Amino acid sequence: MDYDAQQRFANLLHHRAQGLAPSAAIAPEIVSSATYFTPDIEGLTHVYGRSGMPTWEAVEEQLGILEAAPCVAFPSGMGAISAALIAGLQAGKRLILPSDGYYVSRILASDILQPYGVEVVEVATKDFATTDFTGAAVVLIETPSNPGLDVCDIALIAGRVHAAGGIVAVDNTTMTPLLQRPLDLGADVVVAADTKAPAGHSDVLFGHVASRNAAYLDRVRSWRRLSGAVPGAFEAWLVHRGIETLEVRLERMCASAGVLAERLAAHPRVKNLRYPGLARDPSHEIARRQMAGFGFLIGFELADAAAAEAFLTNCPYIVQATSFGSTHTSGERRIRWGDKVADGFIRLSVGLEPVEPLWAAINKALG
Ligand SMILES: *Cc1c(COP(=O)(O)O)cnc(C)c1O
Repeated sequence: MDYDAQQRFANLLHHRAQGLAPSAAIAPEIVSSATYFTPDIEGLTHVYGRSGMPTWEAVEEQLGILEAAPCVAFPSGMGAISAALIAGLQAGKRLILPSDGYYVSRILASDILQPYGVEVVEVATKDFATTDFTGAAVVLIETPSNPGLDVCDIALIAGRVHAAGGIVAVDNTTMTPLLQRPLDLGADVVVAADTKAPAGHSDVLFGHVASRNAAYLDRVRSWRRLSGAVPGAFEAWLVHRGIETLEVRLERMCASAGVLAERLAAHPRVKNLRYPGLARDPSHEIARRQMAGFGFLIGFELADAAAAEAFLTNCPYIVQATSFGSTHTSGERRIRWGDKVADGFIRLSVGLEPVEPLWAAINKALG
C-alpha cells in the first residue's frame, strides 16, 4: 500500500475523535430512529430516516476520507450500482459495461435498464482500451474484473470517454479505495460493494457511490431518498467497525495471496492461474502502475469440474461460499453462476489465516 493510502487510513482512524466533546462516545452510536424532533423543518441535519441517519453518515465519512470524495451509502453493492447507473442514464442513452465483470450488473442492464430504453453494449475488460466510446453516456468498468482478473487502464479509458462526452464509473469492489483510487486516475464515479473486504466479516451487505461531481452525486442521493433504498443503522454500524481494520486485513490478505499465487502457479495440477501481482501475468504492467496492491483474489483452473469440486471439498481452510474479502479464505467454481469461465475454474478469496498452514492445507487438498 502506498503512503497516500496509508495516510488516508490513519486519518480515517482519527477523524471522529477530533470533533468530540468531553464524555462523548468514541464509537458511533446506532441511531435507528425513523423520525427526528422537528418543531420546525428548516436548517435541521436530521428530519426523517429516509433522507439521512447519523449511523450511515458515520460510514460515509470514513469512506469519504478513503475516496477523497463525498460518498452516498447504500444497503448493498447493487443498490449503489443501480443508483449510479440510473443517475447517469435515460431512455435513448448508451451504457457500455464489461462482458466479463460482475454478472448481476449485466443482468440489471439487460433486464431492467434496456426495457426502459437504455442501449446496452458489452465489451470485454481487455478490449476497453481500444473501444470506440462515441455516443456512450456512461461507461462502467471493473478492474480487476470479477472473476477473470483482467485489468484495464483507468486513466487512459477516462481520457478517451471524456473526449467522447461520456462519464466513467468504476466498480472498485475487488480493490477497495486503499488498493486503487479510480477518482484520482480520472474516473468520474466509483461504485463498490462494501459487503466484501470493507465490512469484511460476511455478516452484512452494504455499498457506496463516490464522486467529485456534485451534480451527479445529488442525483444519486435523490434516487436513494425517492426509491427508499436506504441502509439500516445496525448494518452501517457493522460496516463502520469493519472498515477500522480494513488496512491491516488487506495487508495480510494481499501478502498471503502473493505467496499462494506463486506456489499455486508452480503446481503441476494448476492451469491458467491469474493474479495481477505475478510478473508474468498479462495484467501485471497496468496493475503495477495503477494499483496500490495486487489484491487478494486468485483465479485458476483445475482439470475439470470434478477435480475442482474435490479440491474445494477436501481443503478444510477454504469455505465453499460465494462472495469474497472476508476473514476466512473462500472459494467457488464460478461457472455455477453462469460466468464465462472453464468448468474447473476456481475463484479463491484469500483470508486472514496465517499463510503457511493455509498453504499446507491447499497443497494437501491439491495432492
Ligand atoms: C459483490 C459484488 C457486487 C454486488 O454487491 P452486493 O453487496 O452483493 O449487492 C458488485 N460488484 C462486484 C464486483 C461484486 O463483486
